[in-house]
Amino acid sequence: MVVTRFAPSPTGYLHIGGLRTALFSYLWARKNNGKFFLRIEDTDLARNSKEAADAILEAFKWVGLSHDGEIIYQSQRFDLYKKYVAKLLDEEKAYYCYMSKEELDALRENQIANKQKPMYDNRWRDSKETPPAGVSPVVRIKTPLEGKVLIPDGVKGNVEFSWSEIDDFIIARGDGTPTYNFVVAIDDALMGVNYVIRGDDHLSNTPKQIAVYNALGFSVPNFFHVPMIHNEEGKKLSKRDGAMDVMEYQRNGYIPQALLNFLVRLGWSNKDQEIFSFGEMLELFDPNNINKSASAYNAKKLDWLNSHYIKNTKNDELAKLLNDFSVEIHGHDKKEMLLDNAKERVNTLKELADAINFIIVPPLSYNEKDVSTVNEETLSILNDFVSFIEDKQELHLPSDFQEAVNDFLREKNIKMPLLGKPIRIALFGSGTGPNVADVLAILGAKETKNRVENFINYIKNKKEQTI
Ligand code: GLU
Repeated sequence: MVVTRFAPSPTGYLHIGGLRTALFSYLWARKNNGKFFLRIEDTDLARNSKEAADAILEAFKWVGLSHDGEIIYQSQRFDLYKKYVAKLLDEEKAYYCYMSKEELDALRENQIANKQKPMYDNRWRDSKETPPAGVSPVVRIKTPLEGKVLIPDGVKGNVEFSWSEIDDFIIARGDGTPTYNFVVAIDDALMGVNYVIRGDDHLSNTPKQIAVYNALGFSVPNFFHVPMIHNEEGKKLSKRDGAMDVMEYQRNGYIPQALLNFLVRLGWSNKDQEIFSFGEMLELFDPNNINKSASAYNAKKLDWLNSHYIKNTKNDELAKLLNDFSVEIHGHDKKEMLLDNAKERVNTLKELADAINFIIVPPLSYNEKDVSTVNEETLSILNDFVSFIEDKQELHLPSDFQEAVNDFLREKNIKMPLLGKPIRIALFGSGTGPNVADVLAILGAKETKNRVENFINYIKNKKEQTI
């Protein structure tokens, strides 16, 4: 059985790099009818917070990746970890180290001066010395003194480290709290995780975790270290590029399916396919096909995917998603028509809300530059249009209004732009906007007439003031 997990440290929000590895782990477990667990790595009591953990879970819920079993909080498992520390001490696979901070600093300075890699020098490993009084010792694990550790990584291929590079690292601090690499290995083993898919910034931790697996007699999982997401210049992704809180994507109007589709393609591909339904992701994803090189974040592609998903989302669903944005669509009698019209032109839900408001909210002011293009001729066209539209109350479809507009143009013997621009100013406040017939169908003859009359009055008042 395939068992995977996502194990965020709650030092801040969930970012898209984390969400991507979570997605990979989720897909691989679900595809194989396995298990996908969630573990909050909150042992660093100084840097972790409950708020951050909750924010991560909120984002997780938003994207809809479900996990199996209870969420595991490492901060609640200290007693368990202590038992394993005791076990290793008992079996002499770990030992107390009484080195003071001053001694450690001196050692480090010395090593740097001698151009050596700073690392612990094993001085307490087999020491028979009497421990100094008043020092709370740390516990260090004995790592092999020689030989190599081979990590068969599903992304990187075989990665080798010399044990001589890995010092006897601390597994429990002076106050008894366990350290990161120790608890990760224990938890992965106890949770039965056999596929660890995570960012390649953790590759250097892996030999340490293997030392823990070996010392405790646990079997080592399959590792997949996923290259980072870079920006388009190949540099580390900054907040401006998109390395923001996953919930910021929600606030900016992206829909989870689009974001997940975007993320699955960052570092993984299936020929040149770009759009993946959830079912296709499940069917096709395989961590063995994750790219070896870093992937580039492409904001335009995310917009393109989001617009694709918006266009293909049913209107009822879209209306629900719009609840998070300020737009009064629910009571609108032309809701379907409005959504059909606006969803064709936008990349995000935020833009969708704006596009709808643009139509349904009467203009509060008129763009002065556009207004200055209105002359006697256009004003008389608008006046005639008011009389023309008055008795068109029974029209409903955009095609009906299109026909009516065509009749009007024919009657007046004018071309569309002569009507199109002033009528858009009257309807929206500015001379550009969506297709006139579509908007007339949405607003209906009565509202159209009101807005055009308001605009005519506005122009009249303006003229009177200037005289
Ligand atoms: N807690 C680690 C992080 O948030 C992940 C550890 C792991 O996946 O092994 O970066």
